[in-house]
Amino acid sequence: MIVVLKPDAKEAKVDALKKKISELGVKINYSKGTDTTILGLIGETQAIDIHKLRSNEIVEKVIRVQEPYKKANRAFHPQDTIVNVDGVPIGEGHFTMIAGPCSVESEEQIVGIAKAVKAAGAKILRGGAFKPRTSPYSFQGMGPAGLELLLAAKKETGLPIVTEIMDLSQIPAFDHVDMIQVGARNMQNFTLLKELGRLHKPILLKRGLSATMKELLMAAEYIMAGGNEDIVLCERGIRTFEVATRNTLDLSCIPVLKRKTHLPVIVDPSHATGLSWAVESMAKASIAAGADGLMIEVHNNPEEALCDGDQAITPNQFEHIMQKLKQYAAIEEKAI
Ligand code: PEP
Ligand code: MN
Repeated sequence: MIVVLKPDAKEAKVDALKKKISELGVKINYSKGTDTTILGLIGETQAIDIHKLRSNEIVEKVIRVQEPYKKANRAFHPQDTIVNVDGVPIGEGHFTMIAGPCSVESEEQIVGIAKAVKAAGAKILRGGAFKPRTSPYSFQGMGPAGLELLLAAKKETGLPIVTEIMDLSQIPAFDHVDMIQVGARNMQNFTLLKELGRLHKPILLKRGLSATMKELLMAAEYIMAGGNEDIVLCERGIRTFEVATRNTLDLSCIPVLKRKTHLPVIVDPSHATGLSWAVESMAKASIAAGADGLMIEVHNNPEEALCDGDQAITPNQFEHIMQKLKQYAAIEEKAI
């Protein structure tokens, strides 16, 4: 339930109303924007007398929210959320570039790529230390040693790092990671989501392989329900009957999600297509569709990459794409 307050509502009256509502055992999500102040009510709102609430002198209107996601709902928070990743903003007015290899392979590799993508304009470094591979015989990532190398690359370049977590037991090891990635395969790992909700750290939540937008938003709600509201959603392609691309990039999810949620939405054209030569066009299209940023896999030697070489672009190609993207972002009046 949403309670929209009158613009001239006095603080003391707002506090009194909040007190009255919380006495009914309902949680309040307070959101004060430039034009509107909203009380988002979460919990057993059935007990609330909507007519009585409407007649309160500081209440402008009361709306029942049908969707099961509340904190992620734009109705609860009309302004766009900007997530801060160690000083780098993601969201409204910004177009944030995240780049790096699929997997961390060596210090030379990760530091070299970090320097190259930073020079081209990337703001955050990606790289997997723990890899969710389809085959148990494939390279599983360097593990904790990979996290150390990411931190070394951060020290060298100043770029914040984002890397994927696979399960609960790894949380302590992610202490110095700036943003934790929840991969497509873990989008509905509710135990993990609940624990991440207790952290004060930005989360990059990727859409599940066959997850609907509603399921993605409910996964975000799991994290937010615990108190962590710094979430960036990532469209990375979904399973369809088409096999010419690794997945099918659902660009239409961007305008739809933007209406439904205030959370930033970025696109990963690398996993969406699985084809290095398709990354540039899908990256441009993502800007036009209203994305808040991109996550692109970049490898110094894609042919020898230990993971996802077919979709990786080289630092030179990334540099070239960045030049184009800067022009596209300018059209959308976003700082890249
Ligand atoms: C990744 O980003 O390296 C990754 C494994 O992505 P996804 O979870 O989208 O498959
Ligand atoms: Mn990958």
